[in-house]
Amino acid sequence: WKNAPPTLRDIFLNGRTFKDREFLVYENDRATFESFARATIALAHQLQADGVKKGDRVAVIMRNLPEWPVAFWAGILAGAIVTPLNAWWTGPELEYGLADSGTKIAIVDDERLERIQDSFGALPGLEKVYVPRLPGEPADPKVRRLEDVIGKVNDWGRLPDRPLPDVPLAPEDDATILYTSGTTGKPKGALGTHRNMTSNIMAGGISASRNFLRAGLPLPESDPHKLPQRVGLLVVPMFHATGLSANLSPNLNSGGKIVLMRRWDAEQAMQLIEREKVGSTGGVPTIAWQLIEHPAREKYDLSSLTSVAYGGAPSAPELVRKIVETFPASQPGNGWGMTETTATFTSHMGRDYENRPTSAGPAAPVGEMQIRDPADGKTVLPANAVGELWVKGPQVVRGYWNKPEATAETFVEGWLRTGDLARLDEEGFLYIIDRAKDMLIRGGENIYCVEVENVLYDHPDVMDAALVGKPHKTLGEEPVAVVHLKPGGTADEAELQAFVRSRLAAFKVPVQVVFLPEMLPRNANGKIVKTELKKLFEG
Ligand code: ATP
Ligand code: MG
Repeated sequence: WKNAPPTLRDIFLNGRTFKDREFLVYENDRATFESFARATIALAHQLQADGVKKGDRVAVIMRNLPEWPVAFWAGILAGAIVTPLNAWWTGPELEYGLADSGTKIAIVDDERLERIQDSFGALPGLEKVYVPRLPGEPADPKVRRLEDVIGKVNDWGRLPDRPLPDVPLAPEDDATILYTSGTTGKPKGALGTHRNMTSNIMAGGISASRNFLRAGLPLPESDPHKLPQRVGLLVVPMFHATGLSANLSPNLNSGGKIVLMRRWDAEQAMQLIEREKVGSTGGVPTIAWQLIEHPAREKYDLSSLTSVAYGGAPSAPELVRKIVETFPASQPGNGWGMTETTATFTSHMGRDYENRPTSAGPAAPVGEMQIRDPADGKTVLPANAVGELWVKGPQVVRGYWNKPEATAETFVEGWLRTGDLARLDEEGFLYIIDRAKDMLIRGGENIYCVEVENVLYDHPDVMDAALVGKPHKTLGEEPVAVVHLKPGGTADEAELQAFVRSRLAAFKVPVQVVFLPEMLPRNANGKIVKTELKKLFEG
């Protein structure tokens, strides 16, 4: 931090102090902190040579390849606003994202190149496209092989040691446009500054220490250079805030190693945990469930795991107990956050979480939370009352890119209106009740989907469950459960209805249970896409 206030360049430079430690592992590719830094600096200079100026948009659209973080940090060092787009998007969606952000240079893998190639004519502002691992020669003059700039991963360490690009960066400069998951509507681009992300990374470290202390665990050594290296398995995409801000980037501060996977596969994840002695994994709750329920789990040595933590979506209260039972050496952890808060805003772990299995923990020390009356958006409600969650802090982004109306509705007088219904207990622990948009009103009675889903998850045959509203002429909406059973599960509609009836008021019992032969449809952040489920009732 010698010469500059904390921008992402300082985080990058801090990462470089870990030198020859391994930073990234992907299949047979391995990069150290230093080799990663050299590739990143080389690409940053190339971006400048291709005309990138401060504030220009550089898009990153790839699977979780080792080139992903290089592309991201190179854009940052060149002064660009880096715009990761969702690699799951189709060609037209990517064209929208590139046009909406006004991207000048895109760094995309070959699968994504195929999807956007036909859009080149419609995107005159897109000047260059860099592609890692491109088989064959590029067909279009816009396309450049990334290997021609940085070489192959295992050779990055032999790139020359060049100075960083000379671009003045300040904490309030825009750094990122991260798109929301699109769970409730069209994804919105959250425009974040350097300070948003550096605050999130630093606050994450402070929260971790607080969570250790509160959980009665010894505080780790404060100099990360002296600590045994932490190894994390990254199973969520880097293009969302959880992958980028909560999982990847903190390693440049803490010296941790990240193991990447081509795509999520529970058995492959267990192989990697064994081979790389992974200490932490998670990201989203489904990942933890799939490891716990996997029939071949006992075949693998997973004893290196010391942390299974997640957030981003509701998790059934018994998940924490299952983790403690299945991975006795592991601390369970849960956190709440949004793209608009640059990922994690609240978190807790260990016995704090075991004692409050429906909570997502207290706010990071730099964050404030209020529960307000959803009717007026102003009146602050007392402890334990359910209302809408509003948050404030240096991690909260400035607004949405190109969406002045949505920005004005959501970012009000320095506070962020989250759209989540929640309560805070007397100690400031957050309990997410439901998304305001998911809540059902059945003939005037409120039904919080998450409450019913949690009961369904408690049934021994249920693997995956969601409650959605089915339109009803006089009642407005009726609750319908969509369920996927565990292998060998035999529960039928009547049994599940009786199970819910034994625990909740009659009006909350699903009028119908739809069984799906596979897991429920999820978006890239592991969230069930209820709009897809509602299509089951159309017509
Ligand atoms: P969109 O805003 O496009 O509809 P999204 O809200 O799913 O999508 P994200 O920013 O990825 O996009 O997710 C933030 C939301 O995720 C929160 O508003 C909240 O509803 C949910 N969430 C995050 N963490 C938790 C948690 N621990 N428990 C329950 N819900 C959570
Ligand atoms: Mg949202």
